[in-house]
Amino acid sequence: MKVLVPIKRVVDANIKVSVKSDGSGVDLANVKMAINPFDEIAVEEAVRLKEAGIATEVVVVSAGVAQAQETLRTALAMGADRALLIDTNVELQPLAVAKLLKAVADKEQPHLVILGKQAIDDDSNQTGQMFAALAGLPQATYASKVAVADDRVQVTREVDGGSETLSLSLPAVVTTDLRLNEPRYVTLPNIMKSKKKPLDVTSPVDLGIDVTPRLRTLKVSEPAKRGAGQKVADVASLVAKLKTEAKVI
Ligand code: AMP
Repeated sequence: MKVLVPIKRVVDANIKVSVKSDGSGVDLANVKMAINPFDEIAVEEAVRLKEAGIATEVVVVSAGVAQAQETLRTALAMGADRALLIDTNVELQPLAVAKLLKAVADKEQPHLVILGKQAIDDDSNQTGQMFAALAGLPQATYASKVAVADDRVQVTREVDGGSETLSLSLPAVVTTDLRLNEPRYVTLPNIMKSKKKPLDVTSPVDLGIDVTPRLRTLKVSEPAKRGAGQKVADVASLVAKLKTEAKVI
């Protein structure tokens, strides 16, 4: 069974980003980048399927700038077998990524595609769903448990106030939620080994996909700054302030 894991290079989750002074986007100059956390969970799940003898090959794919090769190497160091970079400097939107993934899936014919539920930079939460629709595959989003048996995948999903378990025929698309697993740390020997693993490079043109953006960002702004706190003498004045100043009760 072949597992395809699309991964995105995003700003490291521990970095506090700032908005560019012209409000056109987030300032990414000299900012530490990393694998999207939900995609790290997706890689971990795929590698565990391989370790369990269920998957035979784990292929990771990333679309973006040449530096995304570093992100792919991280996934290879975690245990993926092979990587593919779809090299482009164009700003990619979810529909374009979904089309690129469809073109890759047509060639690779994976049995299972595991994506993150969302990329923490654009918070779109669209790519997995769009890809499943374009590829005509069953999908289960927000997976907190994945079990493969007898040409089917059973996925437990986190839903409001509980969980839901679905059974999908393979090939299928799954998107990961936070509680699916805890990704392993990459070790130095595995980083060294990952350098010898195959990493192919293609492009949207090679795949025959037009990735021209369809959405235009009008404005990006920082959250409003919180005002300073105030000390109040007693409960009565707190209630009065909540009523007349904060107007929350
Ligand atoms: P999004 O729809 O942008 O929130 O992204 C959802 C998921 O789609 C991510 O967690 C990745 O698994 C995948 N994805 C998004 N953008 C890319 C990209 N440029 N390259 C590879 N995978 C991507």
